Amino acid sequence: MVLDRQRAPLSMREVATPTAGDGQLLIRVDCCAVCRTDLHVVDGELHDPKLPLIIGHQIVGRVVGETRRVGVPWLAWTCGVCVYCKSGRENLCDRALFTGYTADGGYAEYAVADARYCFDVPRDYTSEEASPLLCAGLIGFRAYRMCGEAQRIGFYGYGSSARILIQIARDDGREVVIFTRDNAAEQTPLDAAIIFAPAGELVVNALRNVVKGGVVVCAGIHMSDIPSFPYELLWGERVIRSVANLTREDGRIFFERIRSLRIETQRTNFPLDRANEALDALRAGDIQGTAVITI
Ligand SMILES: [Zn+2]
Ligand SMILES: [Zn+2]
Repeated sequence: MVLDRQRAPLSMREVATPTAGDGQLLIRVDCCAVCRTDLHVVDGELHDPKLPLIIGHQIVGRVVGETRRVGVPWLAWTCGVCVYCKSGRENLCDRALFTGYTADGGYAEYAVADARYCFDVPRDYTSEEASPLLCAGLIGFRAYRMCGEAQRIGFYGYGSSARILIQIARDDGREVVIFTRDNAAEQTPLDAAIIFAPAGELVVNALRNVVKGGVVVCAGIHMSDIPSFPYELLWGERVIRSVANLTREDGRIFFERIRSLRIETQRTNFPLDRANEALDALRAGDIQGTAVITI
């Protein structure tokens, strides 16, 4: 399914099977979970994608010619030499390539990926169960870790990522308060908050709720403008921060963390030729759990 230009539907067509270059794997894609970032790419909220482009960055598939099953995440490649890469912050690399955005992704039968950025998929998960872990789980977990020792955490938005993280948070003995459209402005004390929905006003709502020293973590790659707010909401060493991308170390820590905790993912499957329907459903908020493109 090919994106020829932004703000237009994907089109189904035959393209050449990609060839793996040095250090790359050729992967027969089993499935690819849909992420809100896919919408931001298609809808033009993220600029300058590779075009034409195959979107999708929660790929699970088998390495061609091997029995190994791998997951391909958002971070496709980093330069390894810039100040960010050299200081354990490859997620911020200026030259980074991103799967399904500046490199082709997984809404396709085959994908190639740099072997160094792929993860082994835990054996006790089916490919469909594992695919939402690749971004919703992994980058969500990076956002969760930014909450530090917070005991009572607010989740603003209850999509794919929140549904995974609530299982980890509960296993860690934390309390989670869910905010959806109906109660987005509700006031209740929180030690930290994670904003999953791409709506800037939620940052202010959350800031009203976090206690002194608390953090508001913006987990999305795109958000509408944050309205202005009185300084006293930030006073008391409250922090607003974003989470950008992931590092390979994040993946290692995440898969280690879920080794003893089986994450249940709720999914709705769409065959590849119905990928546009999956995107439309997510855009309309009509998906329970995660949409997964099955190949
Ligand atoms: Zn770099
Ligand atoms: Zn994503």
